[in-house]
Amino acid sequence: MKKLELLKTHFGFDGFRAGQEEVIDSLLAGRDTLAVMPTGMGKSLCYQLPALLTDGLVLVVSPLISLMNDQVSKMQERRIPAACLNRFLSEEQKATILANALQGRYKLLYVTPERLMQEPFIAFARKIHIPLLAIDEAHCISQWGNDFRPDYHRMKDFFGRLDSRPIIGAFTATATPQVREDIVRSLDMRMPHIMVNGFDRPNLSFTVRRCGENRYSAVKGIIRRHPDESGIIYCITRKQVERIHEGLLRDGIRAGKYHAGMADDERLAGQDAFMAGQTRVMIATNAFGMGIDKPDIRYIVHHGMPGSLEQYYQETGRAGRDGKPSESILLFNRQDVEINQMLIDLNLEKTPEAERRMQTEVSYDKLRTVHQYCLTHDCLRASILRYFGEAASGTCANCSNCQSTTETTDVTTLAQSIIVCIEATGGRFGVSTIHSILIGQDVERLRKYRLSTNPCFGRHPDLDYLLLRETVDEMLVEGYLIRPSDAYAALRTTPASTIVAEGRKAVTVKRAV
Ligand code: ADP
Ligand code: MG
Repeated sequence: MKKLELLKTHFGFDGFRAGQEEVIDSLLAGRDTLAVMPTGMGKSLCYQLPALLTDGLVLVVSPLISLMNDQVSKMQERRIPAACLNRFLSEEQKATILANALQGRYKLLYVTPERLMQEPFIAFARKIHIPLLAIDEAHCISQWGNDFRPDYHRMKDFFGRLDSRPIIGAFTATATPQVREDIVRSLDMRMPHIMVNGFDRPNLSFTVRRCGENRYSAVKGIIRRHPDESGIIYCITRKQVERIHEGLLRDGIRAGKYHAGMADDERLAGQDAFMAGQTRVMIATNAFGMGIDKPDIRYIVHHGMPGSLEQYYQETGRAGRDGKPSESILLFNRQDVEINQMLIDLNLEKTPEAERRMQTEVSYDKLRTVHQYCLTHDCLRASILRYFGEAASGTCANCSNCQSTTETTDVTTLAQSIIVCIEATGGRFGVSTIHSILIGQDVERLRKYRLSTNPCFGRHPDLDYLLLRETVDEMLVEGYLIRPSDAYAALRTTPASTIVAEGRKAVTVKRAV
Protein backbone atom coordinates (compact mmCIF):
# COMPACT_ATOMS: atom_id res chain seq x y z
CA MET A 1 0.00 0.00 0.00
CA LYS A 2 1.17 3.52 -0.63
CA LYS A 3 2.17 5.98 2.07
CA LEU A 4 -0.73 8.33 1.47
CA GLU A 5 -3.27 5.53 1.60
CA LEU A 6 -1.85 4.27 4.89
CA LEU A 7 -1.86 7.81 6.20
CA LYS A 8 -5.55 8.00 5.45
CA THR A 9 -6.65 4.50 6.46
CA HIS A 10 -4.66 4.12 9.67
CA PHE A 11 -4.16 7.66 10.84
CA GLY A 12 -7.08 9.45 9.27
CA PHE A 13 -4.92 12.30 7.90
CA ASP A 14 -5.25 13.72 4.42
CA GLY A 15 -1.72 14.85 3.94
CA PHE A 16 1.72 15.05 5.44
CA ARG A 17 2.93 17.98 7.43
CA ALA A 18 6.12 19.82 6.53
CA GLY A 19 9.06 17.48 6.80
CA GLN A 20 7.23 14.26 7.59
CA GLU A 21 7.40 12.74 4.14
CA GLU A 22 11.05 13.63 3.74
CA VAL A 23 11.89 11.81 6.98
CA ILE A 24 9.77 8.79 6.12
CA ASP A 25 11.31 8.50 2.65
CA SER A 26 14.78 8.81 4.05
CA LEU A 27 14.20 6.02 6.59
CA LEU A 28 12.52 3.80 4.01
CA ALA A 29 15.50 4.32 1.72
CA GLY A 30 17.63 2.84 4.49
CA ARG A 31 19.35 5.99 5.60
CA ASP A 32 20.07 6.98 9.19
CA THR A 33 17.98 10.08 9.80
CA LEU A 34 17.86 12.81 12.40
CA ALA A 35 14.57 14.69 12.40
CA VAL A 36 14.32 17.97 14.27
CA MET A 37 10.78 19.29 14.45
CA PRO A 38 9.01 21.41 17.05
CA THR A 39 6.76 19.73 19.60
CA GLY A 40 3.36 18.93 18.22
CA MET A 41 4.47 18.77 14.59
CA GLY A 42 4.07 15.01 14.38
CA LYS A 43 7.39 13.29 14.83
CA SER A 44 5.83 9.99 15.94
CA LEU A 45 4.21 9.47 12.56
CA CYS A 46 7.67 9.50 11.00
CA TYR A 47 8.52 6.14 12.57
CA GLN A 48 5.01 4.74 12.94
CA LEU A 49 4.22 4.87 9.23
CA PRO A 50 7.49 3.20 8.14
CA ALA A 51 6.69 0.41 10.62
CA LEU A 52 3.68 -0.41 8.47
CA LEU A 53 5.80 -0.55 5.34
CA THR A 54 8.67 -2.75 6.55
CA ASP A 55 8.99 -6.32 7.70
CA GLY A 56 10.05 -7.00 11.23
CA LEU A 57 9.65 -5.10 14.47
CA VAL A 58 10.37 -1.39 14.83
CA LEU A 59 11.87 -0.67 18.24
CA VAL A 60 11.01 2.71 19.71
CA VAL A 61 13.11 4.05 22.55
CA SER A 62 11.37 6.65 24.65
CA PRO A 63 12.37 8.10 28.03
CA LEU A 64 9.00 8.13 29.78
CA ILE A 65 6.67 5.24 30.42
CA SER A 66 3.63 7.52 30.41
CA LEU A 67 4.51 8.74 26.90
CA MET A 68 4.92 5.19 25.71
CA ASN A 69 1.63 3.96 27.14
CA ASP A 70 -0.11 6.89 25.57
CA GLN A 71 1.31 6.11 22.16
CA VAL A 72 0.58 2.41 22.40
CA SER A 73 -3.08 3.02 23.15
CA LYS A 74 -3.27 5.43 20.21
CA MET A 75 -1.68 2.77 18.00
CA GLN A 76 -4.27 0.28 19.11
CA GLU A 77 -7.08 2.69 18.23
CA ARG A 78 -5.52 2.97 14.79
CA ARG A 79 -5.37 -0.78 14.34
CA ILE A 80 -1.60 -0.84 14.41
CA PRO A 81 -0.37 -3.67 16.64
CA ALA A 82 2.04 -2.24 19.20
CA ALA A 83 3.18 -2.95 22.74
CA CYS A 84 5.24 -1.38 25.45
CA LEU A 85 7.70 -3.17 27.66
CA ASN A 86 8.21 -1.54 31.04
CA ARG A 87 9.20 -2.29 34.59
CA PHE A 88 5.66 -1.98 35.91
CA LEU A 89 4.59 -5.14 34.12
CA SER A 90 4.71 -8.51 35.85
CA GLU A 91 7.25 -11.08 34.69
CA GLU A 92 4.42 -12.99 33.14
CA GLN A 93 3.14 -10.00 31.18
CA LYS A 94 6.62 -9.24 29.94
CA ALA A 95 7.11 -12.83 28.85
CA THR A 96 3.83 -12.74 26.92
CA ILE A 97 4.81 -9.55 25.12
CA LEU A 98 8.20 -10.97 24.14
CA ALA A 99 6.60 -14.20 22.93
CA ASN A 100 4.08 -12.25 20.85
CA ALA A 101 6.85 -10.14 19.41
CA LEU A 102 8.84 -13.24 18.43
CA GLN A 103 5.78 -14.48 16.57
CA GLY A 104 5.64 -11.22 14.66
CA ARG A 105 2.44 -9.99 16.26
CA TYR A 106 3.57 -6.36 16.65
CA LYS A 107 4.75 -3.70 14.25
CA LEU A 108 6.15 -1.52 17.02
CA LEU A 109 7.62 -2.20 20.44
CA TYR A 110 8.26 0.67 22.85
CA VAL A 111 11.05 0.36 25.40
CA THR A 112 12.99 2.58 27.79
CA PRO A 113 16.71 2.99 27.10
CA GLU A 114 17.79 0.98 30.15
CA ARG A 115 16.00 -2.05 28.76
CA LEU A 116 18.46 -2.11 25.87
CA MET A 117 21.27 -2.82 28.31
CA GLN A 118 19.62 -5.88 29.84
CA GLU A 119 20.89 -9.29 28.79
CA PRO A 120 17.51 -11.02 28.43
CA PHE A 121 16.34 -8.23 26.15
CA ILE A 122 19.52 -8.37 24.06
CA ALA A 123 19.04 -12.14 23.70
CA PHE A 124 15.49 -11.47 22.49
CA ALA A 125 16.56 -8.74 20.08
CA ARG A 126 19.15 -11.04 18.50
CA LYS A 127 16.37 -13.40 17.53
CA ILE A 128 14.20 -10.96 15.60
CA HIS A 129 14.59 -8.67 12.63
CA ILE A 130 14.70 -5.00 13.65
CA PRO A 131 14.57 -2.85 10.52
CA LEU A 132 14.44 0.45 12.38
CA LEU A 133 15.45 1.71 15.78
CA ALA A 134 13.58 4.94 16.52
CA ILE A 135 15.02 7.07 19.30
CA ASP A 136 12.40 9.53 20.48
CA GLU A 137 13.39 12.61 22.50
CA ALA A 138 16.91 11.99 21.27
CA HIS A 139 18.25 15.18 22.89
CA CYS A 140 18.32 13.19 26.16
CA ILE A 141 21.58 11.79 24.81
CA SER A 142 23.34 15.11 25.03
CA GLN A 143 24.78 16.86 28.01
CA TRP A 144 24.13 20.09 26.13
CA GLY A 145 20.40 19.41 26.16
CA ASN A 146 18.15 20.22 29.07
CA ASP A 147 17.27 16.66 29.83
CA PHE A 148 20.40 14.55 29.85
CA ARG A 149 19.92 10.86 30.65
CA PRO A 150 22.97 8.66 31.10
CA ASP A 151 21.09 5.59 29.83
CA TYR A 152 20.65 7.21 26.46
CA HIS A 153 24.37 7.56 26.25
CA ARG A 154 25.00 3.83 26.51
CA MET A 155 22.56 2.90 23.76
CA LYS A 156 25.26 2.50 21.15
CA ASP A 157 26.51 -0.64 22.92
CA PHE A 158 23.21 -2.26 22.05
CA PHE A 159 23.77 -2.16 18.29
CA GLY A 160 27.14 -3.78 18.72
CA ARG A 161 25.42 -6.84 20.11
CA LEU A 162 23.09 -7.33 17.14
CA ASP A 163 24.04 -9.28 14.03
CA SER A 164 22.65 -6.70 11.69
CA ARG A 165 22.51 -3.06 12.52
CA PRO A 166 19.08 -1.42 12.27
CA ILE A 167 18.54 1.91 10.53
CA ILE A 168 18.66 4.63 13.17
CA GLY A 169 15.98 7.30 13.29
CA ALA A 170 16.49 9.98 15.93
CA PHE A 171 13.77 12.49 16.81
CA THR A 172 13.90 15.66 18.84
CA ALA A 173 12.54 19.19 19.12
CA THR A 174 15.85 20.54 20.41
CA ALA A 175 17.99 21.53 17.54
CA THR A 176 21.02 23.45 18.66
CA PRO A 177 24.14 22.50 16.74
CA GLN A 178 25.88 20.98 19.76
CA VAL A 179 22.93 18.78 20.64
CA ARG A 180 22.66 17.63 17.03
CA GLU A 181 26.33 16.78 16.84
CA ASP A 182 26.09 14.91 20.11
CA ILE A 183 23.15 12.84 18.91
CA VAL A 184 24.88 11.88 15.67
CA ARG A 185 28.12 11.01 17.45
CA SER A 186 26.64 9.20 20.43
CA LEU A 187 24.43 7.02 18.25
CA ASP A 188 27.20 6.50 15.76
CA MET A 189 24.82 7.50 12.96
CA ARG A 190 26.22 6.83 9.50
CA MET A 191 26.09 9.68 7.00
CA PRO A 192 22.82 10.74 8.55
CA HIS A 193 20.20 12.69 6.70
CA ILE A 194 19.45 15.64 8.97
CA MET A 195 16.08 17.27 8.51
CA VAL A 196 15.15 20.42 10.41
CA ASN A 197 11.73 21.79 9.72
CA GLY A 198 8.73 23.60 11.01
CA PHE A 199 10.41 26.13 13.29
CA ASP A 200 9.38 29.18 11.31
CA ARG A 201 6.27 30.95 12.52
CA PRO A 202 5.50 33.31 9.64
CA ASN A 203 2.60 35.03 11.41
CA LEU A 204 4.85 36.21 14.27
CA SER A 205 6.77 39.44 13.92
CA PHE A 206 9.94 39.91 15.93
CA THR A 207 11.18 43.09 17.55
CA VAL A 208 14.16 43.73 19.74
CA ARG A 209 14.21 47.08 21.45
CA ARG A 210 16.96 48.33 23.69
CA CYS A 211 15.51 50.20 26.63
CA GLY A 212 17.07 52.32 29.30
CA GLU A 213 15.60 52.70 32.75
CA ASN A 214 12.04 53.14 31.65
CA ARG A 215 11.01 49.78 30.37
CA TYR A 216 7.80 50.04 32.26
CA SER A 217 6.44 52.74 29.97
CA ALA A 218 7.40 50.68 26.93
CA VAL A 219 5.39 47.77 28.36
CA LYS A 220 2.46 50.05 29.07
CA GLY A 221 2.59 51.46 25.54
CA ILE A 222 2.46 48.00 24.00
CA ILE A 223 -0.50 46.94 26.16
CA ARG A 224 -2.35 50.13 25.20
CA ARG A 225 -1.81 49.35 21.53
CA HIS A 226 -3.67 46.06 22.05
CA PRO A 227 -6.63 47.15 24.17
CA ASP A 228 -8.91 44.18 23.58
CA GLU A 229 -6.36 41.52 22.89
CA SER A 230 -4.60 38.93 25.00
CA GLY A 231 -0.90 39.13 25.71
CA ILE A 232 1.77 37.92 28.10
CA ILE A 233 4.55 40.02 29.64
CA TYR A 234 7.41 37.76 30.67
CA CYS A 235 9.78 39.03 33.36
CA ILE A 236 13.05 37.56 34.54
CA THR A 237 12.33 37.79 38.28
CA ARG A 238 9.31 37.54 40.56
CA LYS A 239 10.09 40.97 41.90
CA GLN A 240 9.78 42.47 38.44
CA VAL A 241 6.43 40.71 38.00
CA GLU A 242 5.15 42.26 41.23
CA ARG A 243 6.44 45.72 40.36
CA ILE A 244 4.97 45.83 36.89
CA HIS A 245 1.72 44.31 38.02
CA GLU A 246 1.31 46.95 40.71
CA GLY A 247 2.22 49.71 38.28
CA LEU A 248 -0.35 48.59 35.73
CA LEU A 249 -3.11 48.37 38.32
CA ARG A 250 -2.21 51.88 39.45
CA ASP A 251 -2.42 53.03 35.84
CA GLY A 252 -5.86 51.50 35.49
CA ILE A 253 -4.85 48.48 33.38
CA ARG A 254 -6.36 45.21 34.48
CA ALA A 255 -3.71 42.55 34.55
CA GLY A 256 -3.12 39.16 36.13
CA LYS A 257 0.14 37.88 37.54
CA TYR A 258 1.75 34.48 37.79
CA HIS A 259 4.95 33.26 39.41
CA ALA A 260 6.07 30.32 41.50
CA GLY A 261 6.10 32.37 44.71
CA MET A 262 2.32 32.80 44.77
CA ALA A 263 -0.17 30.57 46.57
CA ASP A 264 -1.52 27.77 44.38
CA ASP A 265 -5.15 28.89 44.36
CA GLU A 266 -4.29 32.50 43.60
CA ARG A 267 -2.04 31.41 40.75
CA LEU A 268 -4.58 29.05 39.24
CA ALA A 269 -7.41 31.58 39.52
CA GLY A 270 -5.24 34.07 37.64
CA GLN A 271 -4.48 31.52 34.96
CA ASP A 272 -8.16 30.61 34.54
CA ALA A 273 -9.17 34.26 34.19
CA PHE A 274 -6.54 34.71 31.49
CA MET A 275 -7.49 31.56 29.62
CA ALA A 276 -11.14 32.61 29.69
CA GLY A 277 -10.27 36.05 28.35
CA GLN A 278 -11.46 37.88 31.49
CA THR A 279 -8.02 39.35 32.10
CA ARG A 280 -6.29 40.29 28.90
CA VAL A 281 -2.75 40.73 30.15
CA MET A 282 -0.70 38.32 32.20
CA ILE A 283 2.51 39.42 33.89
CA ALA A 284 4.52 36.32 34.59
CA THR A 285 7.85 34.61 35.05
CA ASN A 286 8.76 31.66 32.88
CA ALA A 287 6.79 29.48 35.32
CA PHE A 288 3.76 30.51 33.29
CA GLY A 289 3.32 28.59 30.11
CA MET A 290 3.18 24.85 30.47
CA GLY A 291 -0.04 23.86 28.80
CA ILE A 292 -0.99 27.43 27.87
CA ASP A 293 -2.67 26.60 24.61
CA LYS A 294 -4.72 29.72 24.09
CA PRO A 295 -5.08 30.28 20.35
CA ASP A 296 -5.62 34.06 20.30
CA ILE A 297 -2.64 35.45 22.20
CA ARG A 298 -1.69 38.47 20.07
CA TYR A 299 1.53 39.60 21.68
CA ILE A 300 4.33 38.37 23.90
CA VAL A 301 6.60 40.92 25.51
CA HIS A 302 9.85 39.96 27.16
CA HIS A 303 10.55 42.56 29.79
CA GLY A 304 14.16 41.51 29.92
CA MET A 305 16.36 39.05 28.16
CA PRO A 306 15.62 35.38 28.77
CA GLY A 307 18.40 32.91 29.55
CA SER A 308 18.45 31.13 26.21
CA LEU A 309 17.10 31.36 22.69
CA GLU A 310 15.35 28.04 23.23
CA GLN A 311 13.43 29.51 26.12
CA TYR A 312 12.76 32.71 24.21
CA TYR A 313 11.40 30.97 21.17
CA GLN A 314 9.27 28.63 23.21
CA GLU A 315 7.69 31.53 25.10
CA THR A 316 7.25 33.59 21.97
CA GLY A 317 5.67 30.61 20.25
CA ARG A 318 2.64 30.89 22.53
CA ALA A 319 1.46 33.84 20.46
CA GLY A 320 -0.61 33.45 17.34
CA ARG A 321 -1.45 29.76 17.55
CA ASP A 322 -4.54 30.60 15.47
CA GLY A 323 -2.27 31.67 12.63
CA LYS A 324 -3.22 35.35 12.77
CA PRO A 325 -0.56 38.08 12.86
CA SER A 326 0.96 38.44 16.32
CA GLU A 327 3.88 40.30 17.82
CA SER A 328 6.85 39.27 19.82
CA ILE A 329 8.82 42.06 21.43
CA LEU A 330 11.99 41.75 23.43
CA LEU A 331 12.80 44.77 25.59
CA PHE A 332 16.42 44.49 26.39
CA ASN A 333 18.55 46.28 28.89
CA ARG A 334 22.23 45.63 29.43
CA GLN A 335 21.69 44.75 33.08
CA ASP A 336 19.70 41.72 31.98
CA VAL A 337 22.94 39.94 31.20
CA GLU A 338 24.12 40.39 34.76
CA ILE A 339 20.79 39.37 36.27
CA ASN A 340 20.83 36.21 34.18
CA GLN A 341 24.39 35.47 35.20
CA MET A 342 23.34 35.78 38.81
CA LEU A 343 20.46 33.38 38.25
CA ILE A 344 22.79 30.90 36.57
CA ASP A 345 25.21 31.07 39.48
CA LEU A 346 22.37 30.60 41.97
CA ASN A 347 21.16 27.54 40.10
CA LEU A 348 24.64 26.11 40.01
CA GLU A 349 24.66 25.91 43.77
CA LYS A 350 21.99 23.27 43.38
CA THR A 351 23.92 21.37 40.71
CA PRO A 352 26.04 18.41 41.84
CA GLU A 353 29.71 19.33 42.07
CA ALA A 354 30.74 17.00 39.24
CA GLU A 355 28.39 18.55 36.71
CA ARG A 356 28.97 22.15 37.67
CA ARG A 357 31.73 23.04 35.24
CA MET A 358 29.89 21.60 32.27
CA GLN A 359 26.64 23.24 33.35
CA THR A 360 28.28 26.64 33.77
CA GLU A 361 29.72 26.42 30.30
CA VAL A 362 26.39 25.38 28.79
CA SER A 363 24.41 28.10 30.55
CA TYR A 364 26.85 30.89 29.84
CA ASP A 365 27.06 29.83 26.23
CA LYS A 366 23.29 29.98 25.85
CA LEU A 367 23.21 33.39 27.50
CA ARG A 368 25.84 34.69 25.10
CA THR A 369 23.69 33.52 22.18
CA VAL A 370 20.63 35.48 23.33
CA HIS A 371 22.80 38.51 23.92
CA GLN A 372 24.08 38.22 20.37
CA TYR A 373 20.51 37.95 19.18
CA CYS A 374 19.67 41.21 20.98
CA LEU A 375 22.55 43.00 19.30
CA THR A 376 22.53 41.47 15.84
CA HIS A 377 21.91 43.56 12.74
CA ASP A 378 20.78 40.55 10.73
CA CYS A 379 17.22 39.44 10.16
CA LEU A 380 15.94 38.31 13.56
CA ARG A 381 13.83 35.50 12.17
CA ALA A 382 16.72 34.16 10.12
CA SER A 383 18.99 34.37 13.19
CA ILE A 384 16.60 32.26 15.23
CA LEU A 385 16.01 29.73 12.48
CA ARG A 386 19.71 29.37 11.80
CA TYR A 387 20.31 28.80 15.50
CA PHE A 388 17.82 25.96 15.41
CA GLY A 389 19.54 24.59 12.34
CA GLU A 390 16.90 25.43 9.78
CA ALA A 391 17.99 26.97 6.50
CA ALA A 392 16.88 30.61 6.39
CA SER A 393 17.18 33.28 3.78
CA GLY A 394 18.48 36.77 4.48
CA THR A 395 15.43 38.92 5.11
CA CYS A 396 11.87 38.34 6.29
CA ALA A 397 10.27 41.80 6.08
CA ASN A 398 8.60 41.08 9.40
CA CYS A 399 11.19 41.82 12.07
CA SER A 400 12.58 45.04 13.49
CA ASN A 401 15.89 44.60 11.67
CA CYS A 402 14.35 43.93 8.27
CA GLN A 403 11.95 46.81 8.71
CA SER A 404 14.84 48.92 9.90
CA THR A 405 13.18 50.60 12.79
CA THR A 406 16.79 50.70 13.86
CA GLU A 407 19.72 52.31 12.13
CA THR A 408 23.29 51.17 12.00
CA THR A 409 25.97 53.58 13.19
CA ASP A 410 29.64 53.09 12.42
CA VAL A 411 31.61 53.45 15.66
CA THR A 412 34.98 52.13 14.50
CA THR A 413 36.87 55.29 15.49
CA LEU A 414 35.36 55.22 18.95
CA ALA A 415 36.13 51.51 19.27
CA GLN A 416 39.75 52.21 18.38
CA SER A 417 39.96 54.92 21.05
CA ILE A 418 38.46 52.54 23.59
CA ILE A 419 41.13 49.95 22.82
CA VAL A 420 43.98 52.48 23.10
CA CYS A 421 42.47 53.88 26.28
CA ILE A 422 42.16 50.48 27.93
CA GLU A 423 45.63 49.38 26.96
CA ALA A 424 47.18 52.58 28.26
CA THR A 425 45.51 52.09 31.66
CA GLY A 426 46.43 48.43 31.99
CA GLY A 427 42.83 47.25 31.84
CA ARG A 428 41.94 48.34 35.35
CA PHE A 429 38.81 50.39 34.69
CA GLY A 430 35.20 50.06 33.66
CA VAL A 431 32.93 52.00 31.32
CA SER A 432 32.34 55.08 33.46
CA THR A 433 36.04 55.82 33.96
CA ILE A 434 36.68 55.23 30.27
CA HIS A 435 33.90 57.71 29.56
CA SER A 436 35.48 60.31 31.80
CA ILE A 437 38.82 59.85 30.04
CA LEU A 438 37.38 60.02 26.53
CA ILE A 439 35.40 63.20 27.18
CA GLY A 440 38.37 64.65 29.02
CA GLN A 441 36.63 65.28 32.27
CA ASP A 442 39.18 66.86 34.53
CA VAL A 443 38.06 65.39 37.79
CA GLU A 444 40.13 64.78 40.89
CA ARG A 445 40.01 61.01 40.46
CA LEU A 446 41.48 61.10 36.98
CA ARG A 447 44.38 63.19 38.19
CA LYS A 448 44.95 60.91 41.11
CA TYR A 449 45.32 57.88 38.84
CA ARG A 450 47.25 60.01 36.31
CA LEU A 451 44.57 59.27 33.77
CA SER A 452 44.65 62.74 32.30
CA THR A 453 47.87 61.73 30.54
CA ASN A 454 46.03 58.95 28.71
CA PRO A 455 46.60 59.28 24.93
CA CYS A 456 42.82 59.36 24.43
CA PHE A 457 42.13 61.94 27.12
CA GLY A 458 39.55 64.32 25.70
CA ARG A 459 39.55 62.74 22.26
CA HIS A 460 35.72 62.50 22.17
CA PRO A 461 34.49 65.56 24.07
CA ASP A 462 30.82 65.12 23.13
CA LEU A 463 30.64 61.38 23.61
CA ASP A 464 27.21 60.21 24.66
CA TYR A 465 27.44 57.81 27.59
CA LEU A 466 24.81 55.48 26.18
CA LEU A 467 26.60 55.24 22.84
CA LEU A 468 29.79 54.29 24.67
CA ARG A 469 27.93 51.58 26.58
CA GLU A 470 26.43 50.19 23.40
CA THR A 471 29.79 50.21 21.66
CA VAL A 472 31.42 48.39 24.57
CA ASP A 473 28.59 45.81 24.58
CA GLU A 474 29.03 45.25 20.88
CA MET A 475 32.78 44.83 21.34
CA LEU A 476 32.23 42.35 24.19
CA VAL A 477 29.91 40.26 22.06
CA GLU A 478 32.29 40.35 19.12
CA GLY A 479 35.18 39.36 21.37
CA TYR A 480 37.16 42.59 20.91
CA LEU A 481 36.96 43.17 24.65
CA ILE A 482 36.49 40.97 27.68
CA ARG A 483 35.37 41.55 31.18
CA PRO A 484 37.50 39.15 33.26
CA SER A 485 35.57 37.49 36.05
CA ASP A 486 38.26 38.30 38.59
CA ALA A 487 38.07 42.05 38.03
CA TYR A 488 34.61 43.41 38.61
CA ALA A 489 33.45 45.60 35.70
CA ALA A 490 36.98 46.23 34.45
CA LEU A 491 37.47 45.88 30.71
CA ARG A 492 40.45 44.36 28.95
CA THR A 493 41.47 44.00 25.33
CA THR A 494 41.87 40.64 23.58
CA PRO A 495 44.07 39.36 20.75
CA ALA A 496 41.13 40.11 18.44
CA SER A 497 41.27 43.81 19.41
CA THR A 498 44.17 44.31 16.99
CA ILE A 499 41.91 43.72 14.00
CA VAL A 500 39.87 46.72 15.03
CA ALA A 501 42.82 48.78 16.21
CA GLU A 502 44.48 48.35 12.82
CA GLY A 503 41.30 49.27 11.01
CA ARG A 504 40.85 45.85 9.42
CA LYS A 505 37.35 45.46 10.78
CA ALA A 506 34.60 48.00 11.31
CA VAL A 507 32.47 48.13 14.47
CA THR A 508 28.84 49.15 14.20
CA VAL A 509 25.99 49.49 16.65
CA LYS A 510 22.29 49.31 16.10
CA ARG A 511 20.25 52.22 17.44
CA ALA A 512 16.57 52.92 17.48
CA VAL A 513 15.45 55.63 15.06
P1 ADP B 1 5.63 15.50 18.34
O1 ADP B 1 6.16 14.16 18.77
O2 ADP B 1 6.41 16.08 17.19
O3 ADP B 1 5.51 16.48 19.46
P2 ADP B 1 3.23 14.04 17.83
O4 ADP B 1 3.82 12.94 17.03
O5 ADP B 1 2.88 13.74 19.23
O6 ADP B 1 4.17 15.30 17.78
O7 ADP B 1 1.96 14.59 17.03
C1 ADP B 1 1.27 15.73 17.44
C2 ADP B 1 -0.14 15.70 16.90
O8 ADP B 1 -0.16 15.93 15.50
C3 ADP B 1 -0.85 14.38 17.11
O9 ADP B 1 -2.12 14.64 17.60
C4 ADP B 1 -0.88 13.76 15.75
O10 ADP B 1 -1.97 12.89 15.60
C5 ADP B 1 -1.00 14.98 14.85
N1 ADP B 1 -0.48 14.75 13.48
C6 ADP B 1 0.69 14.18 13.14
N2 ADP B 1 0.85 14.15 11.81
C7 ADP B 1 -0.25 14.73 11.26
C8 ADP B 1 -0.69 14.98 9.92
N3 ADP B 1 0.05 14.66 8.87
N4 ADP B 1 -1.89 15.58 9.77
C9 ADP B 1 -2.63 15.94 10.83
N5 ADP B 1 -2.30 15.71 12.11
C10 ADP B 1 -1.11 15.12 12.35
MG1 MG C 1 6.89 13.23 20.45
